[in-house]
Amino acid sequence: MQDKILKIVSELEKKYKSNNKPSKGGILDTLIATKLSQNTTDKTSYIAYKNLKKKYKNWGALTNASLREIKEQIKVCGMADTKSKDIKNMLNNMKKNYGTLNLDFLKKYKTEKIYDELLQYKGIGVKTVSCVLAFSMGRKVFPVDTHIHRVLNRLGIVKTKSPEDTFEKSEALIPGRKKISFHRNLIKFGREICKAVRPLCGLCVLYDYCEFIDKEDFYNSKAANKENNFLILDNI
Ligand code: SF4
Repeated sequence: MQDKILKIVSELEKKYKSNNKPSKGGILDTLIATKLSQNTTDKTSYIAYKNLKKKYKNWGALTNASLREIKEQIKVCGMADTKSKDIKNMLNNMKKNYGTLNLDFLKKYKTEKIYDELLQYKGIGVKTVSCVLAFSMGRKVFPVDTHIHRVLNRLGIVKTKSPEDTFEKSEALIPGRKKISFHRNLIKFGREICKAVRPLCGLCVLYDYCEFIDKEDFYNSKAANKENNFLILDNI
């Protein structure tokens, strides 16, 4: 299995060239951006995040804003009621618990302790914390979303029923130094090629490694060819 994983990692590196660099934002920036991204697209959650950054000079200023005002800034990304409440409560509780909204002290903690610390806040789950660990702290964790869950199952790397199970199983399988770049490459691959409904198996560089039972049908399907044209146009 390790050999197969390394070959898949290498094929996707050739195709997408994602890096392991952490994001530029701080811990709280990543936490809030990831919270906003729940159940929506990158595009709308990024707009909501930018709206908040523009409206409030820092995250402390957001704690003094009304829920109505916060909702207005983030309504573009959906679930604005829950997200605005969760973010405001989380920031208020952090201020109470730590006396500051600078979370840099977490960098001194072991990974397990950071999970314990951040999972106490309502609306923050394992996936969100794993994104914070990977992207704002450079820890060797492998966040799993629905794309990664689907692709790893089709490839036969895991046989799991939920992204949470995939996260648990894949943690030990993916080499630490590749975790972040492989995460980024798999998301791109899941969005562009190994789509949920009609995977473009005819264009797939991982076809020979894949254990998906219907891959031959999708390889030959006209629908896939139609989508290929769209993909190419999309890249112009
Ligand atoms: S062959 Fe098809 S199902 Fe398998 S990984 Fe490639 S796109 Fe996904």
